[in-house]
Amino acid sequence: MKKIAVFPGSFDPFTIGHEGIIRRAINLFDEIIIAVGTNALKKNFYSLETRKEMIKKVFKDEPRVRVAHYEGLTVDYCKKNGAGYLLRGLRTAADFEFERAIGQVNKSLAPGIESVFLLTVPEHSFINSTIVRDIIRSGGDASKFVPALINLKDYKGIED
Ligand code: ADP
Repeated sequence: MKKIAVFPGSFDPFTIGHEGIIRRAINLFDEIIIAVGTNALKKNFYSLETRKEMIKKVFKDEPRVRVAHYEGLTVDYCKKNGAGYLLRGLRTAADFEFERAIGQVNKSLAPGIESVFLLTVPEHSFINSTIVRDIIRSGGDASKFVPALINLKDYKGIED
């Protein structure tokens, strides 16, 4: 059976931290679906289409990575797509506590789906989308925190 993993997140924007996790995980799975979650209650900086476009650019030469979006429960999205794994990245103890709760709830909702956690490399452990967004909003240069293939000047942020 094909090993499919879903990597869910807001990716507002996608950072080198996210990229690092995917590049390492690609050797563990046959396919990874980067699934941009749409949460009506969450205010985004980049539109859903912009976020997907940025991520697609990064993995344009990687046929094992697909970029999609979803609404609703992550485990339901996994089931719909035949994914048996949920991929997440861990940076800090705070991430662990947060992920532990979500992972255990997901296990209870969908016992057949395994959450897989990769520890970030130390150089990426301080990078998060909120800080990158704040740099961009304030007119700073955040290019070193996003994958080289994403040219931030090509994208306009909107609060949607
Ligand atoms: P959300 O906050 O909506 O879950 P994110 O896009 O921030 O979405 O995160 C998606 C996943 O990527 C999470 O598992 C998160 O821990 C992981 N992640 C975010 N930043 C990094 C990083 N710098 N290094 C490793 N993993 C990361």
